[in-house]
Amino acid sequence: MIIPIRCFSCGKPVGHLWEEYAEKTSKGADKKKVLDSLGVERYCCRGLLLGHVELIDLAAEFKKF
Ligand SMILES: [Zn+2]
Repeated sequence: MIIPIRCFSCGKPVGHLWEEYAEKTSKGADKKKVLDSLGVERYCCRGLLLGHVELIDLAAEFKKF
């Protein structure tokens, strides 16, 4: 839904990296190189970014006020 602020496994803050990661990969950049340039080394954090699907905008359409 929303990228977690910290990695679930190791606790490294990754939430602030999402926007840059999403912008670069949407333009066709290689995901490995983007993750390397952001300094995300451990595979738990890398998997968090790689597997994330941003669904907050879709879910918000069905929110009742
Ligand atoms: Zn991690």
